[in-house]
Amino acid sequence: MAYRIPTAEVLAVAIVDVLRENPTVDSQKQLTELVRERLHCIDPAYAVTGQRIRRTAISSGLVRIEVQTRDSGKRRRLTRCPVCDSKLSKVRNRTISGDITIIGRRCPNCSYHMGLTERIPTRYVFSNIHSRRRSPADNGQTKL
Ligand SMILES: [Zn+2]
Repeated sequence: MAYRIPTAEVLAVAIVDVLRENPTVDSQKQLTELVRERLHCIDPAYAVTGQRIRRTAISSGLVRIEVQTRDSGKRRRLTRCPVCDSKLSKVRNRTISGDITIIGRRCPNCSYHMGLTERIPTRYVFSNIHSRRRSPADNGQTKL
């Protein structure tokens, strides 16, 4: 059987449709099943991975995604976000003596953050961006 890869637009529309019917989906596995079902109504040959759905959901800007993580206990200098593959930014702190130290890393694109030890994503909760009251802090941008 030949598979077809949906475009980012087709996929984003399917994700938004799913979240319109299910305002909160509390695992990537469940979202993947629902989105596949939706895509198969359009074309039964459409194939998509959970990771692509997650990254498309984030880059669409139309989906709120909460990342639950556990601490691996391992000190690592991650450079890319394990959730969305964006470049992580360093969280710096000034010590009493005036030195700048790096105390962690955070993703500018999603809610992933870690301290000095790596945090492993364990669960994703996806929700419709319009299902709750909007807050300016949600997208990581601060209003002045
Ligand atoms: Zn990220």
